[in-house]
Amino acid sequence: MTRVFNFSAGPAALPESVLRQAADEMLDWHGSGMSVMEMSHRGKEFIAIHAEAESLLRELLAIPANYKVLFLQGGGMAENAVVPMNLLRGKAGADYINTGEWSKKSIKEAKKYCKVNVAASAEASNFSCVPARADWQLDPDAAYVHICSNETIGGVEYHFTPDVGSVPLVADMSSSILSRPVDVAKYGLIYGGAQKNIGPAGLTIVIVREDLLGQPLPCTPSAFDYKQQADNDSMLNTPPTYAIYIAGLVFNWIKSRGGLAAMETHNRAKAALLYDFLDASAFFSNPVAHADRSLMNVPFKLRDESLDDAFLKGAVARGMIQLKGHRSVGGMRASIYNAMPVEGVQALVAYMKEFEAQHG
Ligand SMILES: *Cc1c(COP(=O)(O)O)cnc(C)c1O
Repeated sequence: MTRVFNFSAGPAALPESVLRQAADEMLDWHGSGMSVMEMSHRGKEFIAIHAEAESLLRELLAIPANYKVLFLQGGGMAENAVVPMNLLRGKAGADYINTGEWSKKSIKEAKKYCKVNVAASAEASNFSCVPARADWQLDPDAAYVHICSNETIGGVEYHFTPDVGSVPLVADMSSSILSRPVDVAKYGLIYGGAQKNIGPAGLTIVIVREDLLGQPLPCTPSAFDYKQQADNDSMLNTPPTYAIYIAGLVFNWIKSRGGLAAMETHNRAKAALLYDFLDASAFFSNPVAHADRSLMNVPFKLRDESLDDAFLKGAVARGMIQLKGHRSVGGMRASIYNAMPVEGVQALVAYMKEFEAQHG
C-alpha cells in the first residue's frame, strides 16, 4: 500500500492512525457486533460515541458552558442561509466582511433573508488581505457581524479576533477550525463543515451561544432550527452518525498530540517551510499580505503558467496530489491541514526547488 501526500482543499487528508482504527472497528465496534454505520442513533452505543465526540470537542476548544455544540448536516453552504434564519432575531440586517470567494457566497445567500451591509471589503486589493479593523463601517444595530476566518481559496486568514462590541461575531471556520486555539467566548457563533480539518463530508459543526437561540424566522426548517436541535442533542432527526464517529476519533488524535496549542506549533512550522521558500524564490510566488497568510491553504503561482501542467504532472509522479489551484484563481494551492505531516510539505518544497532549478 502506498499513501499519497494529499494536498486537497476538501474533502481532505485524515490522520492515518484514525483511518486504521476505523478500519479495525469497521465490522464490530467494541464488541457490539455491528459497524457504527449500522447503529441506531438512539441506541446506547451511538449515544456514547456522540457524547464522547462532543465532550472532546468542548475540551479541545475550551468551549464555555453557555455554548451549545450542534452536529448538523448541510455544510458551510447551508449555514450561510441557516445563520440569518436563526440569528436575525427581529433585526433587519447583518454586517458582513468580504475577504474573498467564501465571504461572497455567504453574502449572496444572506441577501435572501436580510439586508446585508458589507462593512468592509478587500476587493480593491484583489482579496489579498484582511481589511484593517479600523476601516470597518459597522452598523451598531446589526444582528451580527459575519467573517470568514480563513478563505480556503484565496489563502487569507484572520490572525486576530476582531472586536465588534456587543454585536455577536459569527465566523465561518470551515477550513481553520481546530488548527489552533480560539477564544470561543469572543464569538456568538462558529460554524464549519467537517471535511477540511475534522472528518468526512456530511457533518457540519455549529458552536453557538445559548442566549442567541429561540427566535428563528418562521420559515426556518425544523432540522435547521438551532434551538430545536439543541433541545434534542442534535438528534431531532438522524444525525450523520458515521461522520460524528470519525470526528470523535480525530478529536482524540488531536488531544493525544497535545491539543490545539501543539497543533498550532506544528501548523506554523509547516506553513513557514512553504512561505519561506516562496518568498526566496524568483519563480514561485504567493500574493497574500504577510500578516494575513493562511496556515491552512497556501495558493501559489509559477512565473510561467504554461508550465502549470508539467508541474502538476511531476507532483503526481512523486506522490503529491490535488495541487491544482481553485478554478476561480488558477495557479496552485497546497492545503496543509492538521493531518498533513511535515514530511509532505518537505517533499513539496524539495520538488519545487528541483522544478525551479530545471525551469527557472
Ligand atoms: C468548504 C467551505 C465551505 C463550503 O462547505 P460545503 O460543505 O461544501 O457547503 C464554506 N466555507 C468555507 C470557508 C469553506 O472552506
